[in-house]
Amino acid sequence: MCGIVAYIGQQEAYPILIKGLRRLEYRGYDSAGVAMMNGKLNVYKKKGKVDELVNFAENQDKTGTIGIAHTRWATHGEPNDKNAHPHAAEGEKLTIVHNGIIENYEVLKKALLKQGHIFKSDTDTEVLAHLIGEIKEREQLPIEEAVRLALNKVIGAYAIVVLDSDEPDKLVAARKSSPLVLGIGENEFFLASDASPIVEYTKKVVYINDEEIVVATKDGNFNLRNLRNEETEPRFHYLDMQIEMLEKEGYDYFMLKEIFQQPRSVADCMRGRLNAEKNWILLNDVENNLEKFLHANRIIFIGCGTSWHAGLVAEYLFEDIARIPVEVEYASEFRYRNPVIREGDIVIPISQSGETADTLAAIELAKQKGAFVYGVVNVVGSSIARTAHAGSYIHAGPEIGVASTKAFTGQLTLLTMMALYLGHRKGTISNDHYHRLLVEFSKIPDKIRQVLDYDKEIQAIAQQVRNAQNALYLGRGYNFPVALEGALKLKEISYIHAEGYPAAEMKHGPIALIDALMPVIVIATNKSAYEKIVSNIQEVKARRGVVIAIVTEGDQQIRRMADFVIEIPEVEEIFAPLISAVPLQLLAYHIAVMRGCNVDQLVI
Ligand code: GLU
Repeated sequence: MCGIVAYIGQQEAYPILIKGLRRLEYRGYDSAGVAMMNGKLNVYKKKGKVDELVNFAENQDKTGTIGIAHTRWATHGEPNDKNAHPHAAEGEKLTIVHNGIIENYEVLKKALLKQGHIFKSDTDTEVLAHLIGEIKEREQLPIEEAVRLALNKVIGAYAIVVLDSDEPDKLVAARKSSPLVLGIGENEFFLASDASPIVEYTKKVVYINDEEIVVATKDGNFNLRNLRNEETEPRFHYLDMQIEMLEKEGYDYFMLKEIFQQPRSVADCMRGRLNAEKNWILLNDVENNLEKFLHANRIIFIGCGTSWHAGLVAEYLFEDIARIPVEVEYASEFRYRNPVIREGDIVIPISQSGETADTLAAIELAKQKGAFVYGVVNVVGSSIARTAHAGSYIHAGPEIGVASTKAFTGQLTLLTMMALYLGHRKGTISNDHYHRLLVEFSKIPDKIRQVLDYDKEIQAIAQQVRNAQNALYLGRGYNFPVALEGALKLKEISYIHAEGYPAAEMKHGPIALIDALMPVIVIATNKSAYEKIVSNIQEVKARRGVVIAIVTEGDQQIRRMADFVIEIPEVEEIFAPLISAVPLQLLAYHIAVMRGCNVDQLVI
């Protein structure tokens, strides 16, 4: 995820681009860059926030009425000056900004290297720039045709804008699975990842569709074509939103937006790494260290808060599927307690930001004791990503809401891929079983979407329980860590005291607290322990507790017993947390908002 802005028209481009980048910084902020054309192409790019770029470009030539700009959230290559966009090709004549991931960039890069291309960055984007340049030069084509042919060779997600100094009165842009909006002014055009950089100049926009290419020219014309070179009809929209709302894409809070982004962020995590049809998972760094994983004595997951909960789910996954012994540790405890680490131990730190101080210290300790450290991190180039021996990114995009939501499901997605891959390689699951699981796994983004459709029902339940002082969350097996996560979400943003428990532990203490004022949220989707969960619900009802049950669609038995039910689609138990976490995020969100809490900020 990142922000793109571009301008072509009669005004100076630079101020428009910079203002636009500032509005898009919420989409990505690890580096920024601009390119303006005024007889000559001037490109400035800098690691850090937009302010760093502005300082850097202060005394440079920034003139020109056509330009492109980018604020990056790295996926390929750490955040630094050289990896910042725009990326150039064709002897610096052509530049491009890109939001997304080119999945087949390695294959394309190999072919381009053979043809003599020299790359200056580690990004997938630069490969696309060279591919466009190569096709344009070789076939002597107009830039839009070179872009079209190049995009036909690309697998992945992109929103791009291309500026070619051979055709300086033209911008070419395209998208697939990443957003792009065209703003139409008087003899001027704007392109951006969302409408926030555009709205103050014009209200008339076209939302570019997947696999559409737009060409906008200085004389005030534009046209749209698809990747098959057929002309498509623009559908005009008229903006009537506030800028702040645009950043939140119409959601009241970033947290809600991020909850609703999960079908996409989970799919992004799988992008280029999982192919159910062809029956493979590919995680480069796991593959590169396969011997270590196959012969691991045990894996120790370390994390804090939500990431620790993801580690608990991983314990079930790795033991169940890959038969590797697992321990899960709070980073803050691990680092201070002289843990026993032996050769053959793998330590997997999990962190959204990649900067969590306790987790970083725990990694240092694990490294000193000789462990192999494999990071699972969201922020590319973060300290944990750099300190770990190897690792995988979850590609969830920036998480702005204080309560982690899409990072949690991203962590679960990545860890599930790892466990399945290792189980398959170790032979602890059969090929047939593996295939069935991959098919099911690839449907998870759609199933999350189905859960999000129940938002209104969940809101109505929130209304009923919003005044509670305490809440109890119960789950078993794979759903036990989800119960902990549900409770954490509620206390973190609504300031209601909440506890998560393994359902069977309820009778060893917490049951004494249950009365008619106590909502008990039971995750009751496990087929394997269904009757036991039913008994737990009966125990709660016997004490007049208010039961909110998360059940599998069509469940009638629990519906008859519970006060409220939230139905979620049926999934294999190993994928349950990816689905059952979502209604709990929504429940916590709605309760918090109804209590007047600002869910995007932590008040300490
Ligand atoms: N994959 C590109 C990169 O790593 C674009 C990432 C983005 O969307 O910001 O540079």
